[in-house]
Amino acid sequence: MYKAFKILLSFIILGATAYFFRTPLLNLWNQLYNSYLPCTQPIGYSLGSFDTKFGISKDQFTNALAKAEQVWEKPIGKELFTNKPDGNLKINLIYDYRQEATIKMRKLGLTINDDRASYDALKSKLKVMQLAYSQKMASFKSQVAIFEKHKDEYEAKVTYWNKRGGATPKAYAELNEEKEALNAELAQINQLQDSLNADVDNINAMITVLNRLAESLNIDAGEFNQTNKERGDEFEEGLYKSDLYGQEIDIYQFDSTDKLIRVLAHEFGHALGLEHVDDPKAIMYRLNQGTNEKLSATDLTALKTLCRIDKK
Ligand SMILES: [Zn+2]
Repeated sequence: MYKAFKILLSFIILGATAYFFRTPLLNLWNQLYNSYLPCTQPIGYSLGSFDTKFGISKDQFTNALAKAEQVWEKPIGKELFTNKPDGNLKINLIYDYRQEATIKMRKLGLTINDDRASYDALKSKLKVMQLAYSQKMASFKSQVAIFEKHKDEYEAKVTYWNKRGGATPKAYAELNEEKEALNAELAQINQLQDSLNADVDNINAMITVLNRLAESLNIDAGEFNQTNKERGDEFEEGLYKSDLYGQEIDIYQFDSTDKLIRVLAHEFGHALGLEHVDDPKAIMYRLNQGTNEKLSATDLTALKTLCRIDKK
């Protein structure tokens, strides 16, 4: 009787454990399944957090996901991914300083690729902007100095007339005119200040993008290192994460729909179980450098090896 109770109790405990950890266990099962029998069971995915600041609709994003899916499925004619509401693999669109910088670059008419040419072009553009900024700043400072001088002159006149018990009608009219001129000067200074602030925002955005490029291209950023440290070492456009609690793809940054499809396809590749390959044109290259939305020969070989498909 006592023994039976003990067994029953341990069953209850086991049952409870299995119940409470159902999600992780299910996920573990999926992951084991995928690693032992890769490509046999389509990976279900669904939208997780979605930030509208990217300026892309859910439909457009879902479309890009379908295209990224096709990148892997079409060449081998196999269903590898499936979009379903309870899909285990969560796709998150996360807006932070990275995309903010990208949008600023777009407004400046700059398209950024993950290559040395983009880095060099951006760096020289930054130098031009920094020079323009320091010139504008110098003009700002001199305008402020002139304003201060005019203001002091005006205030001295006001004090003078106040001591005399009030201005003559002529002097009063002149003072009013001067005051209006001062207000106009101040408005111009304010405008210049706004424009300087916008320049600083653009310069910072450029530095953010330069840092990201320097990081991924292994360039010694030197002068840009300071911001680098503040913001940590994460400069990925996307990230695939997998642990007992779930699988997720985080997307942080993309320049265009083509680049979005590429980064999604890349992270999908990791979800399949693929590692990086050494071919700069490949979807699974560590940088989103190419422009092709098709697998390169290296990608295809890696996929066929993973899925145990005979290479012909
Ligand atoms: Zn990767």
